[in-house]
Amino acid sequence: MNMKKTQLVTLGLATAVFAAMVALPLGAAQGAGEAIDYAGLAKIKAEGMQNSQVMELASWMTDVHGPRLSGSPNIQQAGEWAVAELKKMGLQNVAMEPWTDQTSFPRGWSNDKFYLAAVTPQAFPMTGMSTAWTPGTNGLIRGEAVLVTSTDGAELQKLSGTLKGKFVLTQAPPDVAAFWTPQAERYTKEQLDAMENAPRVPELGAPAAAGRGGAGAGRAGGAPGGGAPFNRNDFFLKEGVAGVLTTSARGHGLFTIGGNRSADPATTLPAIVVTAEHYGRVARMLMKNIPVTLEADIKNTFHPTPTMFNVVAEIPGTDKADEVVMLGGHLDSWHSATGATDNAAGSAIMMEAARILQAIGVRPRRTIRVALWGGEEQGLLGSRAYVAAHFGSAEDPLPEFSKFNGYFNIDSGTGRVRGFSVFGPPEASKIVAGYLKEFEDFGVYGATASASRAAGGTDSTVFNAAGIPGIGASQDPIEYNSHTWHTNLDTYERIVEDDVKKSAIAVASAVYHIAMREQMLPRFDKATMPAPPAPPAGRGGGGAPNQ
Ligand SMILES: [Zn+2]
Repeated sequence: MNMKKTQLVTLGLATAVFAAMVALPLGAAQGAGEAIDYAGLAKIKAEGMQNSQVMELASWMTDVHGPRLSGSPNIQQAGEWAVAELKKMGLQNVAMEPWTDQTSFPRGWSNDKFYLAAVTPQAFPMTGMSTAWTPGTNGLIRGEAVLVTSTDGAELQKLSGTLKGKFVLTQAPPDVAAFWTPQAERYTKEQLDAMENAPRVPELGAPAAAGRGGAGAGRAGGAPGGGAPFNRNDFFLKEGVAGVLTTSARGHGLFTIGGNRSADPATTLPAIVVTAEHYGRVARMLMKNIPVTLEADIKNTFHPTPTMFNVVAEIPGTDKADEVVMLGGHLDSWHSATGATDNAAGSAIMMEAARILQAIGVRPRRTIRVALWGGEEQGLLGSRAYVAAHFGSAEDPLPEFSKFNGYFNIDSGTGRVRGFSVFGPPEASKIVAGYLKEFEDFGVYGATASASRAAGGTDSTVFNAAGIPGIGASQDPIEYNSHTWHTNLDTYERIVEDDVKKSAIAVASAVYHIAMREQMLPRFDKATMPAPPAPPAGRGGGGAPNQ
């Protein structure tokens, strides 16, 4: 907030020299403070506000090519679409770049049909979805519903021989609270000030409490709180149940979904998540000892050894072409909706930012490179592969390492970018904040410095972990934590057009100005580089968190 900016060109003068200055290097304007190319800035704003394509890009990614589960045929199509679109925009070196190591993703998966309903004592449809990488039903099946909430081995053994062909509801019906408070929210000025002044521990704006790295879709058979030695799912499998049903307490027709790509389909049960209201109705009838019959016809397809890729595209640089400024987001999504706020919004914003720069004809000094990652939701796999292949790390650098000028990332929903966290010395975040100062009317507050090399949460942290500047967006939450993150309502309708338009403009300008600087964005050097975090000791099961 307190960034001092040297006003080098008055707005009036900027208008007068508008045409002349566009696409010229900042040159003389460098000096006392961070120079702003006001003519370029005006063009970026005009293009982004008047000719925005961001919603159309998001519609293609969601309505036509969503959901984009990693390794699925859909994300392949989405990647091909993105390549064609970026070429159409005029970007160069556009490609689906395969991960160097194709062995990390054993199987793709898609849900091709989902039908679930109660048939007795009353018929009603049930809203739900298969957990990813679980099998379907092999055609239409009918079975009794049973409520089995125990996780105790001895208790469960008593049911041995009684569960064959039944649908097991594995938890008590949850209490669903009313929406007592408004759901959509923006940060207040006070909150943003606090964020700027406080040391920011997690990288991103999304509060950890609301589910990042949360419990996923509840496939684990253990007791809540962990530690149950008895594997309930193995027991159900051995008993020949038709499938297991779970739900999530948020209710109101919402559920979150996840999956485990590493699970062996031969030993994985059909796992179905349904809304709390439908789950609760069945469970409460069972608690009254009223028999309930369900039927299901679920077709899930496994796709062996899918080609895993990241989409990349460039606006080539000129006199500093070997130096790179990057922007991007993850293209993959979960599969119970179309992955609109997580993360078609971020991908569309970054494609739009690149489109704006291309459309106004910038000739950047440094190369500007867009990347759309795969495999983010399974543990930042695409960006990890990319950073390892291109940059290495501070401890083991590749030639491109020293030429890197920052990676802007968006992955916290539709909410407008209100600031960035910049991995690097305070000078770096001050520079970024100086560029963003021009967007105070959009509510952008600036940038904060981060020295954390812990990877987790989203793709920018992979760059931080390598010791190069990841630049992660802090965004207004809007409905991200309450309604859209990994849920069945994460559709196009949840994208706030004004916010994504303005985010694209702010990012385009910041990327442009970094690409035009005389000097590189300041970075940690050998002496100041924070130590990488110790590798996590004994992570249980190797299952990747769902970011
Ligand atoms: Zn995401």
